[in-house]
Amino acid sequence: MQELTHFINGEHVKGTSGRFADVMNPATGEVQAKVPLASKEEMDAAVAAAQAAQPAWAAVNPQRRARVLMKFVDLLHRDMDKLAEKLSSEHGKTFPDAKGDIQRGLEVAEYCIAAPQMLKGEYTDAAGPGIDIYSMRQPLGVTAGITPFNFPAMIPMWMFAPAIACGNAFILKPSERDPSVPLMLAELLEEAGLPKGIIQVVNGDKEAVDAILYDPIIQSVGFVGSTPIAEYIYGTGCAQGKRVQCFGGAKNHMIIMPDADLDQAADALVGAGYGAAGERCMAISVAVPVGEETADKLRDKLIPRIEKLKIAPYTAGDDVDYGPVVTAAAKENILRLVQTGVDQGADLVVDGRDFSLQGYEDGFFVGPHLFDKVTKDMDIYKTEIFGPVLSMVRAQSYEEALGLAMDHEYGNGTAIFTRDGDTARDFANRINIGMVGVNVPIPVPLAYHTFGGWKKSAFGDLNQHGPDAFKFYTRTKTVTSRWPSGIKEGGEFHFKQMD
Ligand code: NAD
Repeated sequence: MQELTHFINGEHVKGTSGRFADVMNPATGEVQAKVPLASKEEMDAAVAAAQAAQPAWAAVNPQRRARVLMKFVDLLHRDMDKLAEKLSSEHGKTFPDAKGDIQRGLEVAEYCIAAPQMLKGEYTDAAGPGIDIYSMRQPLGVTAGITPFNFPAMIPMWMFAPAIACGNAFILKPSERDPSVPLMLAELLEEAGLPKGIIQVVNGDKEAVDAILYDPIIQSVGFVGSTPIAEYIYGTGCAQGKRVQCFGGAKNHMIIMPDADLDQAADALVGAGYGAAGERCMAISVAVPVGEETADKLRDKLIPRIEKLKIAPYTAGDDVDYGPVVTAAAKENILRLVQTGVDQGADLVVDGRDFSLQGYEDGFFVGPHLFDKVTKDMDIYKTEIFGPVLSMVRAQSYEEALGLAMDHEYGNGTAIFTRDGDTARDFANRINIGMVGVNVPIPVPLAYHTFGGWKKSAFGDLNQHGPDAFKFYTRTKTVTSRWPSGIKEGGEFHFKQMD
């Protein structure tokens, strides 16, 4: 059995706590590795190494720091297949999807190569007689991030790329479900020339998270994961005086207007609802057709598309639509919620409950489900299922559809499918959700924009990546300076009389 490590001060180090978690192969249901769960003492060692290394890194000029990221991007391209293979084997997502996970993180690293430009600061010349004012952006020091299982490459890169570009040291506590790729990324950063101690990976669970939250040296905490944990980390971290940003769960609605191209909408829904087995925070989990006729037609178009989905391990080829979910517990939770949908009276028009894959009976595969006539009071509507389950909620008008999305407690992403520019514009303006797609089902912004939800999907003031990341990972210092008139009045050729 492979025993994974931590990556502390540039070295792979074995866990010393005696506690481990199983890393599964979700396709077979087998344990493929053991990951150590760090104690407070192990986290303290990483913090001490980070604190010792950070000042020298902050003193490296931003262009040279950016060059490390340039080289890192090259190494990601070199090792793309190797990373994607490992990612798929621990997470379960398809091979092309695993490459997408790495690619979207890589693009954030590429964006952070602009660090010299982003860190230039501000300057006011002659703010008063002989007075200039300038503001500089300085690194925070030692920073930390806690990431979820569903994007084990992209989300760590969302955090560490800007953190280190700004001159910080960064401690990553990745998900214990798929920790290998984060460890590989840390190795690549070091190969790219990052000094020891600037990126460290400390594996663990709540104990390691609490060690981060209560450590007085760590200045900031980034979190992505489920909303209850996001709320805990935000509350605790802020109370400890840290800068904190937390991104939580979602229930993303897609509104389908009667004038939409329904084939296009159905294709989009199948990809956005079932891709990655629904384990995306930007997955569409609620379809809201407007009008009974739109709903009936959409359902008829969805059913054959859903029934055709190829569900298999990533090793079965690039035409696999989705793979297993991450753990047996996740599968159990999804099937439990499906049962509540049936019990509470929703119409289960595609039933994936009996799905089984020959040769992979112990894998965590979940068949696709489609519910129709879901209502606001049902658990499958209120709860984030995080599985291949799409719910249709029929709305009688645009205003009712808009109201549904607005009233839901989550506000991560949403989409509208329509041919009418005025409706799309009205929707984009009024909706209280952070990321909006117009005929785009999964509107994940590119690296140079920012990513973040509203309501119970995000806690904190700044979004991830884009310009916000350079604000989050630096603090502003403003200097007001006055230089009285001096040498320019002319050289002194005689000793002055002392008086
Ligand atoms: P999770 O909340 O279970 O775990 C996230 C991280 O928190 C992991 O590193 C985990 O070890 C740690 N953690 C778990 N329990 C903890 C506890 N009690 N105390 C302290 N730390 C704890 O989330 P997950 O299952 O890994 O990921 C799926 C969730 O993440 C979904 O809700 C999804 O919507 C959300 N997500 C959100 C975004 C976003 O940007 N909004 C992006 C991706 C995923």
